[in-house]
Amino acid sequence: MTVTTGGKRSSSFRLRRVPAVETVLRALGDTELPRPLVARIVRQELSALRKLKSIPSLDQALVQIRATLVHLRASRIQPVINGTGILLHTNFGRAPLGAQVLETLTQIGGSYNSLEYDRTGGGRGARGAYLEACVAQLCGSEDATVVNNNAAALVLILRHFCGSTRPENGAEHKSGRASPGVRSEVIISRGELLQIGGGFRIPEILEASCAQLREVGTTNKTSLNDYARAISPRTALILKVHRSNFFMDGFVSGPLTEQVATLAHEKRIPFVEDLGSGALVDTQQVSGLEHEPTPAESVRHGADLVCFSGDKLMGGPQAGLIAGKAKLIAALRREPLFRALRCDKLILSALQTTLEIYLREAHADIPILEMLAASTAGLRARAEMIVAALAGHPIAASIGVGQARLGGGSLPRSAMPSITVDLGHSEFKPQEIAARLRQHAVPIVGYIARGTFKLDLRTVFPRQDAEVVAALRAFR
Ligand SMILES: *Cc1c(COP(=O)(O)O)cnc(C)c1O
Repeated sequence: MTVTTGGKRSSSFRLRRVPAVETVLRALGDTELPRPLVARIVRQELSALRKLKSIPSLDQALVQIRATLVHLRASRIQPVINGTGILLHTNFGRAPLGAQVLETLTQIGGSYNSLEYDRTGGGRGARGAYLEACVAQLCGSEDATVVNNNAAALVLILRHFCGSTRPENGAEHKSGRASPGVRSEVIISRGELLQIGGGFRIPEILEASCAQLREVGTTNKTSLNDYARAISPRTALILKVHRSNFFMDGFVSGPLTEQVATLAHEKRIPFVEDLGSGALVDTQQVSGLEHEPTPAESVRHGADLVCFSGDKLMGGPQAGLIAGKAKLIAALRREPLFRALRCDKLILSALQTTLEIYLREAHADIPILEMLAASTAGLRARAEMIVAALAGHPIAASIGVGQARLGGGSLPRSAMPSITVDLGHSEFKPQEIAARLRQHAVPIVGYIARGTFKLDLRTVFPRQDAEVVAALRAFR
């Protein structure tokens, strides 16, 4: 065994009273974790024990160390059965990928590939050129490109337009930072300064990109004139951010995308729209939900650039897609930052297959769209099978109703009728049922509503039903 103990310290008096790393490792047996990682934890725990006044017995130490290892093991990325009814759960990796995309990942990831190779000429090729054409086609734009995620897309766009001088501003400043005559202001409505998920705030992204915020209007009302009045020689661009994760109702109004676009074009100022989710299909048609603006609409309405996520409603891998004017896209590709934000072969190939699925209109191969389109009758039939399979077992299962949601910053009003398997137990409270199911080999996560633990079947893949039944049968 090649375990390093604390060198010199191992000769100290106190250490002799604390079990040796090797002793503990042997006593732990197989922990199903890589041995160097276990040794690391053991060393950390033992060094904490050394600081205690009274040193516990080996058995006590083992209990503590095992608990830490269980915690560590639980923090590995692993499959989860999502019974929350939230389709795009950021904690669960947003959109799951379909069979065709997985096939691509196996083929491309497991061999050399033509990522930057020109088969025709035998020389270097452009990375992602084919899929960029696919994005442009789907968005009805002149050109398109792809970076790591939508936040990166926004940063790239802002860095490009802010802090760089343009000819009409007079003297060129190579340093790029906010020097006089530099266009650095981004005009944005106060109603669109939103926060998305864990700490992604539009105003902070703007600041980090050296853009100066030029807020216009009020939280609930912004007029076209508010935008017009804010335009100055310092204006770098007008940004519109889709309110993707909340909605405002009542005394609310703002100009349409096409009105802002017309104003921006008259004043010769770039107009960028961040759509957030970026559905490539009509969500109303697929699911009966409200309509989510599509990138194609944004382009048609006059946005010079539109950016959106790959792993939200589009249902692909994490990526930030940017579509729009050829000249601007070409300029973004030339930005030094672009290189730092580029995607790898796995993402690009997964995206390529996802985009081809859309171009062929084979939407059944996009799991998120399948879940959106699932009928409650179909969900109910599955619930009946699950409930029947649990007859005579200690856990009491019944069919319930629930409301599935899109989540992940898409369609905040997106409640969809759904079917749940409701679980009860004579000995366990709903919280205890939840905790135990989270401990299952494939963690099963549901939610508690009005004192009942529920599993929403819209977000459980039909192929996972058997696993759910097995876990619930093992429940004592
Ligand atoms: C989700 C979202 C983002 C961030 O997208 P990521 O792909 O998670 O980086 C940016 N803007 C809006 C409006 C969003 O909804």
